[in-house]
Amino acid sequence: MEIIQYRQDFPILETGIIYLDNACMTLKPLQVIQKINEYYLKYPSCGNRSLHRLGKKVTEEVENSRKLIKKFFNARKEEEIIFTKNTTEGINLIANSLEIKNKVLISDKEHNSNLIPWQRFNLLINFSKKASFDIENFENNISKNVSLVSINHVSNLDGTENPIKDIIKIAHENNSLVLVDAAQSAGHIPIDVKKLDVDFLVCSGHKMLGPTGTGFLYGKKHLLEKLKPFIVGGETVIDSTYKDAKFENLPNRFEAGLQDYAGIIGLGEAIKYLQKIGLESIRKHENKLNFLLTEELKDVKGLSILGPNNAELRNGIFSFNINNIDPHTISLLLDEKNIMTRSGMHCGHSWFNHNKINGSCRISFYFYNTEKEVRIATEEIKKIARLS
Ligand code: PMP
Repeated sequence: MEIIQYRQDFPILETGIIYLDNACMTLKPLQVIQKINEYYLKYPSCGNRSLHRLGKKVTEEVENSRKLIKKFFNARKEEEIIFTKNTTEGINLIANSLEIKNKVLISDKEHNSNLIPWQRFNLLINFSKKASFDIENFENNISKNVSLVSINHVSNLDGTENPIKDIIKIAHENNSLVLVDAAQSAGHIPIDVKKLDVDFLVCSGHKMLGPTGTGFLYGKKHLLEKLKPFIVGGETVIDSTYKDAKFENLPNRFEAGLQDYAGIIGLGEAIKYLQKIGLESIRKHENKLNFLLTEELKDVKGLSILGPNNAELRNGIFSFNINNIDPHTISLLLDEKNIMTRSGMHCGHSWFNHNKINGSCRISFYFYNTEKEVRIATEEIKKIARLS
């Protein structure tokens, strides 16, 4: 099946919108929406506790989602997948549970979610060189007592991909652990946690066709077992007295309280859907659209691209400015033409402040976007550029 034929599963596209804000949140296919409805209509109950048939069905469906995620990311065991409500929660879980004796290293292009949780530690920033990860600088930095490297896989600011395989190898040679923020790569690029040998990886379901407020943390089992529980309470313990508690095994000890069952089950359906299309096809399609857009716009007077000019290095993201036009104005003008983009600092204030840039307008693709949509967006952006 041609990748573009999957558009028919996204009813909102029939309204004629050109949705180019996928780095924030992707649209949801009917199959995911129907799966959420199935939960509420057929077994709207609590998993892992109630022994009745509805409760049993919820537990089965939740564990099936965990299995699908485990397989999709090639984890060794199901209990290495901990459900969270988003990438941010996964990072906070590690920041609050891992014993960090020395420094934490991040890049200069991290989302606030991978910066703020680390600001109470001794923080090292690995600055980029020519918009890309500076591996030489990293080799110097990593020898300086780094306990944890926490790094994005793909930047939400400009789409550049970090060489995480090399980063992980070098970090491990220096006895540092690595947490990968895969918010922008999961669902876009194949990820094999075993091959990468990554220690922890986090991502958000809503950026990969899943319901809002879903996500997971992957961790190597022996490392997860050493973490101290973070949010504690119902379902995290096997037994308790007024004074003490005996904690559950993985993964339950990190999934406190009643969970977003509909979301988790819907996320499993999103994984099935992605499996059907294949991540290599998704990646190729996004690259093609970004190449087309870049070719059309790179020479427009006054337009500057964040990150490298070469589209191949920016995955499905095209972040830009036009002279002194406020990025929000660009986004609002595009919205008038039914084109949805994102403007501002994209929760990467630190990078924009450091580089004295006001923000940008960001276009981000997914597999349901078309060449025709690129052509329409291109024409509208050229018109805006003529206003400047
Ligand atoms: N990291 C990156 C690279 C992101 O792009 C985002 C979302 N834009 C996040 C973290 C935070 O994701 P969430 O809000 O789903 O927790």
